Amino acid sequence: MTGKQKKIYLETYGCQMNVADSELINGILNREGYASTDNIAEADVILVNTCSVREHAEQRIYGRLGEFKSIKKRNPGVIVGLLGCMGERLRSRLRQENSKGVGECVDIIVGPDEYRKLPTLIQDAWHGERGIAVQLSRVETYDDITPLRTNGISAWISIMRGCDKFCSFCVVPFTRGRERSRPLKGIVAETVSLAEKGYREITLLGQNVNSYRDGEMSFPGLLKAVADVDPQIRIRFTTSHPQDMSDGLIDIIAATPNVCKYIHLPVQSGSDRILSLMNRNYDTNHYKKVIGKIAERIPGVCLSTDIISGFPSETEEDHLRTISLMEEIRFDGAFMFKYSARGNTAAYAMKDDVPGEIKTERISQIIKLQNKISREINESLIGRQFFVLAEGVSKKSPRQWHGRTDGNKMVIFDEGNYRAGDYVRTKITRVNSATLFGSPPVPSDHHNGGADS
Ligand code: SAM
Ligand code: SF4
Repeated sequence: MTGKQKKIYLETYGCQMNVADSELINGILNREGYASTDNIAEADVILVNTCSVREHAEQRIYGRLGEFKSIKKRNPGVIVGLLGCMGERLRSRLRQENSKGVGECVDIIVGPDEYRKLPTLIQDAWHGERGIAVQLSRVETYDDITPLRTNGISAWISIMRGCDKFCSFCVVPFTRGRERSRPLKGIVAETVSLAEKGYREITLLGQNVNSYRDGEMSFPGLLKAVADVDPQIRIRFTTSHPQDMSDGLIDIIAATPNVCKYIHLPVQSGSDRILSLMNRNYDTNHYKKVIGKIAERIPGVCLSTDIISGFPSETEEDHLRTISLMEEIRFDGAFMFKYSARGNTAAYAMKDDVPGEIKTERISQIIKLQNKISREINESLIGRQFFVLAEGVSKKSPRQWHGRTDGNKMVIFDEGNYRAGDYVRTKITRVNSATLFGSPPVPSDHHNGGADS
């Protein structure tokens, strides 16, 4: 059997990196003649690109595998593949026939650095051979693979893989391996090709972009090189680690009009004792200094963060420090998580001693506060105008569109005389904590450039 006309259904869990990896996977399979499908019922191969960052993500995937098992019962010819972080983490457990009753439906297990082997593994599976490829690499960056993208306006480019930071709570260094950077040349060539295809927004992805290195080239240099390809394309990047947020990077963001004035800088906790146990290598004083510099040099910058609540030994006092840091910095947005113990990590050896109900109580306080702050910040924007990249028709209301400001705020606005990919000037008329609503939209020759009026 060859890949000709065979259909792949690929489901993705987790972060933007995984979404970008799924585009790589589709790229690898597409060049072997496989077609992608959104309809699981017509798939010859069902793949699930997984996330292991929190227990909850893995539980959802186990649930899905149970559903794939019944599909396979009806149609035993279907191949099921478990890809990504969970495959890497649970390879031996999943191989045991009866792991939660779902291991038996998995034909192939492929870790994040072995996607090139997928076509062969799928072929072998059709011949009855169960395959596993979970070797981590020190060099693989998939530099030569063209991702298969479905959105024609915004694109992700992975500039690095892996992570060497070993934060004590985090499984990423174990599931995605050592940190490595993709060569600058390939990243710039991909940007040029996206510009030729009419893309209007590119997000550069890495677990810690400030450790990017290609010879003498560091991340600020790469960011400038990518931004210079086409001033009409706006550039985002994520994630930055507070320990390495360099002055050089802040200056490039400030000085380059098409680099978005938006920084995601995960703080994780407002308690220095907890930050030290987390092995984050900075304290709140350092974090606040970095934020101060950013705010001073990039007026109007939007900031977001990640927060973990209920890390081992976290006391009420530690929690209140997180609350007061949030009140002091007033992030535009935050991703907020209950701590989840992950095997292999250093924190796994610590006692997960914050009771479930306390974790729930603390995280709900944190979420409530963040929603209040986000709404207040958004309310202060009523009456202002922003350049919004029109992305498409709003899911909730077909007469309205959605897009994002330079500062990464979602805007819903009336349909009008513009197309997807246009920048439209939108006056904000009302808001809630997550969304701005704007009208009337005016098409603009202007790219966003961070400018608003
Ligand atoms: N590299 C990025 C950084 O250092 O900020 C983040 C990558 S991680 C996949 C995304 C977020 O997930 C982290 O910032 C953290 O807040 C959260 N996270 C990671 N491990 C976690 C755990 N064991 N429990 C709860 N949240 C976790
Ligand atoms: Fe995980 Fe820390 Fe690396 Fe981010 S920097 S991926 S939180 S180990």
